[in-house]
Amino acid sequence: MSKIQMTTPLVEMDGDEMTRILWKMIKDELLLPFIDLKTEYYDLGLEHRNETDDQVTFDSAEATKKYGVAVKCATITPNAARMDEYDLKEMWKSPNGTIRAILDGTVFRAPITVKGIEPTVSKWKKPITIARHAYGDVYKGVEIKVPGAGKAELVYTGEDGTEIRETIHEFDGAGIIQGMHNVDKSIESFARSCFKYALDTKQDLWFATKDTISKKYDHTFKDIFQEIYDAEYAQQFEAAGIEYFYTLIDDAVARVMKSEGGYIWACKNYDGDVMSDMISSAFGSLAMMTSVLVSPQGYYEYEAAHGTVQRHYYKHLKGEETSTNSVATIFAWTGALRKRGELDGNKELMEFADKLEKATLDTIESGTMTKDLALITTLENVNAVNSEDFIKAIAERL
Ligand code: NAP
Ligand code: MG
Repeated sequence: MSKIQMTTPLVEMDGDEMTRILWKMIKDELLLPFIDLKTEYYDLGLEHRNETDDQVTFDSAEATKKYGVAVKCATITPNAARMDEYDLKEMWKSPNGTIRAILDGTVFRAPITVKGIEPTVSKWKKPITIARHAYGDVYKGVEIKVPGAGKAELVYTGEDGTEIRETIHEFDGAGIIQGMHNVDKSIESFARSCFKYALDTKQDLWFATKDTISKKYDHTFKDIFQEIYDAEYAQQFEAAGIEYFYTLIDDAVARVMKSEGGYIWACKNYDGDVMSDMISSAFGSLAMMTSVLVSPQGYYEYEAAHGTVQRHYYKHLKGEETSTNSVATIFAWTGALRKRGELDGNKELMEFADKLEKATLDTIESGTMTKDLALITTLENVNAVNSEDFIKAIAERL
């Protein structure tokens, strides 16, 4: 059998711990036997990040700008414990944060649905994709604990000295205040990423804020989305037969619960933080979520939504058997391969991605799955397997 050829390399970002182990198994068992795999390899494992003073992370993000598509393994974000464990020179920043800052994107997360893993909300038939704005608002907030009576004001001083001043509150006693911000440029790229992704995946786009109460702050989000939609995307949406739908955030929440799914829900930073945990747990598991960073220039970085599964890795190091779910990491690869195929007009590569996803889901639906799914499935006669046997079962089917 001749292998599928690739014309342009993928940017491959290797990672840490248990997901690094899965990464190699996936390549060896599911990719290399079928594809003449072309990648530009960057080792984002913590040891190599430390050796290169984190330069490798920056280089991998720059390479993503060059080639357009990357696939990333989960990586450790160092904390105090990791400083000792890996004897680090510095507490290196989160690679995801670094890459996001360079590519300036929006993260889209969608559940991978499969028969036998049923959503808690019984009306949901199709996945709901969350698009979270990842800049500003309360995450860049400035706060004061007001000690006692006094006047709190909001003051803006322009570069030319012009001043805008609003009274926040005349305090009689102790209280609290908070200042937060966002910038038009970031909201604009958030909007463009959402519209692009909706067209890409042919799904409706929902967006919601509290513009009736927040008449300037939230209203600006609403206005920017609408202006960009009207000027750049309305015709394309119509041609694709999809809809842009704006409503109030509380109305959106109520509609989501009563919907069948099958759309993208764009959320402001805080709403996305809260709602993505609700959506992922209601659909089953973090190990069954896809995650892709889409930049406004149209660069794509695919990853798993979960971390490096440290607890399983320590078991693995002790020679114990693990049953780690590789579905999200497999789907990171299929997402990247499909996008590469699409950009290069490589139909075989796109079809391979479809087949690998189907083989993965069919394996689960036939009853062979890792322990995390075996615990929550509605299927009977389940065969709970270890990390390696799960991947081998997929390979056999493929
Ligand atoms: P984690 O990797 O998300 O795992 C937490 C727990 O969730 C696991 O112990 C396991 O539960 C379950 N789990 C997650 N993924 C699973 C899978 N694929 N299959 C089966 N079970 C799975 O979080 P963590 O272990 O607390 O974090 C480890 C490292 O990941 C941290 O250093 C953090 O910085 C990093 N991290 C990286 C990313 C990223 O690169 N995208 C994201 C988040 C965290 P049981 O133990 O109950 O089986
Ligand atoms: Mg959160």
